[in-house]
Amino acid sequence: MDLYEYQARDLFEAHEVPVLPGVVVTTPEAARAAAAELGCSVVIKAQVKTGGRGKAGGVKLAADADEARAKADDILGMDIKGHRVNRVLVTTATDIADEYYFSYLLDRTNRTFLAMASLEGGVEIEETAATNPEALVRVPIDPLTGVDSAKAREIVAAVGLPEQAAEAVESLWSAFVAEDALLVEVNPLVRDAGGAIVALDGKVTLDDNAGIRHVAHAGLRDHDSADPLEARAHAKDLNYVRLDGRVGVIGNGAGLVMSTLDVVALAGARPANFLDIGGGASAEVMANGLEIVLADPAVRSVLVNVFGGITACDAVADGIVRAFALLASRGEPVDRPVVVRLDGNRADEGRRILGAAGLPGLELVDTMDGAAARAAELAGREA
Ligand code: GDP
Ligand code: MN
Repeated sequence: MDLYEYQARDLFEAHEVPVLPGVVVTTPEAARAAAAELGCSVVIKAQVKTGGRGKAGGVKLAADADEARAKADDILGMDIKGHRVNRVLVTTATDIADEYYFSYLLDRTNRTFLAMASLEGGVEIEETAATNPEALVRVPIDPLTGVDSAKAREIVAAVGLPEQAAEAVESLWSAFVAEDALLVEVNPLVRDAGGAIVALDGKVTLDDNAGIRHVAHAGLRDHDSADPLEARAHAKDLNYVRLDGRVGVIGNGAGLVMSTLDVVALAGARPANFLDIGGGASAEVMANGLEIVLADPAVRSVLVNVFGGITACDAVADGIVRAFALLASRGEPVDRPVVVRLDGNRADEGRRILGAAGLPGLELVDTMDGAAARAAELAGREA
């Protein structure tokens, strides 16, 4: 889960990373009041989960409360790279001496953590990485020892940051570890005219798999910008990710579903989603799965790919039959073709059950490739 800048600011503050006073607001009038409260010139910043807000006109200085109101009025409702601005952060303006880039991230390739930093902050880091790669310094971090004050001084020296940045570098590591983040990025980290180090803009990605350890993280979830179907699936405890094709996919087991997406692509179509209904595959779960997949208007056909293991195919077949009935009783009968491939434990019995049920629009295909080809054919040619 990615956080908004104001959420990253709060999280940094909780871990003693130096940030500026700031208030997040949703109306120009509230921005005026916030600026009056801060009592100095302020910066009004669009809160959207995308970079380059500055360039897009989403970051503006305001000398006083009335100007803050006017600038907030300009920025609220703006569209920045497809993201509508519903909130702005009002922070005290800083007299910037230098802008740096600093981040901690998970380095999957080397199975460790990495500090990445540059004296050329403020601009988009992808640009620096492409045009001036030597300006981006990478320091690996041993996950067992992390960043203590000595390591922080080492990083600061390797990058060429001012010595007084070491404390912020150490605190930022504490935030990264304590919150189970996958990324913390500060761009720019600045030295102000008085020599103080401040995190002026923050980007944080939290590890959703660690959510169970952080009750507070649930409150950071952004309900208004989430895909509504993914939100519905999440509420039903389904492991669903929306994609952009026409073939709905349901399978049991993440690995099987991943390879199902591949065979659909090989068959010349594009999958509409990832949905792993897990081991149990009860009628209820199957019905919920079909309901979510069919709620996507782009879906033209559905491929149900099941490999019977502990849950045998006859139980899954029963589940499918009862799911069709359940959906009909909810007033949402299955209205698009469903191709089912069953294999593994008790596959013959499962196929017999589905054959005997005579469900409208349901077809059985014995092989995974054959089922994907048939589902692709039923979905029709992509425009
Ligand atoms: P981004 O464009 O989405 O990364 O937004 P940032 O929050 O990083 O702001 C972009 C740029 O605006 C920064 O790199 C600074 O140059 C400038 N900026 C932001 N806040 C201030 C401030 O308080 N004072 C000054 N002088 N410039 C600021
Ligand atoms: Mn930035």
